[in-house]
Amino acid sequence: MKIVLATHNKNKRKELQLLLNSLGLQILTLDDFPEIGEIPEDGKTLEENAKFKAMTVNRLTGLPAIADDTGLEVDALNGRPGVYSARYAGVSCSYKDNVSKLLLEMQGVPYDKRTARFRTIVAFTDGSTELITEGCVEGHITENLKGFGGFGYDPVFYISVYDQTFAEMTENEKGKISHRGNAIRKMKQLLQREFSIFTDSKISTPNKENA
Ligand code: IMP
Repeated sequence: MKIVLATHNKNKRKELQLLLNSLGLQILTLDDFPEIGEIPEDGKTLEENAKFKAMTVNRLTGLPAIADDTGLEVDALNGRPGVYSARYAGVSCSYKDNVSKLLLEMQGVPYDKRTARFRTIVAFTDGSTELITEGCVEGHITENLKGFGGFGYDPVFYISVYDQTFAEMTENEKGKISHRGNAIRKMKQLLQREFSIFTDSKISTPNKENA
């Protein structure tokens, strides 16, 4: 049984594959469908973007699809960059551009006011059933980059109880506490409740009795 992750992002793909591994599904990504290019993320909310990506990939492949959309909400910036996290420093900017802009905007902000959270929305659709989950993780924006792992804003997202940024954690460690990890674990529960996919391999037959 197959499911398509609606992303070309190799970091996200690795994280999602690790988190979904236990389902025993054949996990495909957009790299298996090169004819599908980048899917626009110009919705006004994370939910709009995640739903649109999942619906588009399901429509184009005919397979069940899962998509996520993530935003970094920084309290000192009134929740920015939020849904605009990918293009915070401008259209087609790099991760480095975004992080540099963030650190510049946060210059002089004291530690206790540097609170922020990653929020992820995960959307699933198989063409008839739509499921949505949300995951969140609280942290602080550092003053300098720390760590070499992860991607995006990971080197400046600090979790005080671990005394590490996401970029200093392994993928496993990050997945256990991260926004994406939390949202995917909830999605796995919903899928298990909604479908009999993990027992009798029927992803398109909702098992409403167990819902
Ligand atoms: P996307 O729209 O879900 O791809 O995410 C928007 C932006 O948020 C991306 O360009 C990344 O810079 C950032 N982002 C998403 N997920 C993570 C993460 O797990 N760690 C750090 N940055 C992330």
